[in-house]
Amino acid sequence: MKIRSVLSAAVLAVATTLASTQAFAQETFTLKLAETWGPNFPIFGDTTKNFAERVEKMSDGRLKIRIDSANKHKSPLGVFDMVKAGQYDMGHSASYYWKGKVPNTLFFTSMPFGMNAIEQYAWFYHGGGMELMEEVYEPHNMLSFPGGNTGVQMGGWFREEIKSLDDLDGLKMRIPGFQGEVFAEVGVRPTNIAPGELYTALERNTIDAVEWVGPALDLRLGFQQIADYYYTGWHEPATELQFLINKKVWDKLPADLQEIMKVAMRTGSYDMLVHSQHANAEAWATIKEEYPNVQIKQFPKEIFQAMYDANKKLLKEAADEGEQAARIVKSQEEYLEQSRAYTDISERAYLNTMSEVE
Ligand code: CA
Repeated sequence: MKIRSVLSAAVLAVATTLASTQAFAQETFTLKLAETWGPNFPIFGDTTKNFAERVEKMSDGRLKIRIDSANKHKSPLGVFDMVKAGQYDMGHSASYYWKGKVPNTLFFTSMPFGMNAIEQYAWFYHGGGMELMEEVYEPHNMLSFPGGNTGVQMGGWFREEIKSLDDLDGLKMRIPGFQGEVFAEVGVRPTNIAPGELYTALERNTIDAVEWVGPALDLRLGFQQIADYYYTGWHEPATELQFLINKKVWDKLPADLQEIMKVAMRTGSYDMLVHSQHANAEAWATIKEEYPNVQIKQFPKEIFQAMYDANKKLLKEAADEGEQAARIVKSQEEYLEQSRAYTDISERAYLNTMSEVE
């Protein structure tokens, strides 16, 4: 009797545990994601779609992501506020867009003359970058994760060749953010114009030059038809998008779903980097073939040096404004220095070798 009752109690305990595990396993979540991009925006938009698909498959349908593009929520640059307020559970955007609200969000996308993509990922995941980003977003009740990299962006389309600093004086160029501020220091008049109006602005000489992303996304906007000079980049060497998540929403997810999210976000960001490389190479082949007017140019050394000095000056000003900014700038500078010394004897040495035998 006694043994039997102990046994049945044990059976009951196991059955209860199983039942609760099953109930737990069946609990499903749907997160609403607002992205800065319009519907079917290539590469950036593919990143969120693939992320959502992967999360749903890996969680066996327990976690679904519903994506609203900019045409739906009507607020491409309101993603930070919407996720912070809980109007959306998560977002896909770029950290440097929030610089006007929270200045130190600037540092987590890409900095002029800064790290390239592999160096920056190494900084995020092994060099303290994630911890600094968490610290910046924490007071806003959000988590931010790397959300896809464009690789080195092109320096922009110019209708006239730029031969000296004098040629930049008064030049009207679409170039946003901190990069625009660096350009302004050397005489450029930076403006920000909505993507849909860029082609017309360049065609009608409202602007003299335009910076967008790289061949794959630039080709769609048609700049190659009206500008001959395509400059190499310096200003966004590793533009990293971001996944933003409301912290309360994150905390409600079971640990396994949080881990699935982390894996899917990290895979998504890597995927976007390789997708960018692939699509840019294809688009560049098309431009070379179909638009022989297009010439690749690099700014002369005096311009690079002036912009490099301007960048240093602006970074110092940013660091002087607060202890946190100073720590982030220092972390990035020190990491870049150490990482670049290795890049020099590996990637750069290899590419130099290849250019010698071509
Ligand atoms: Ca850009």
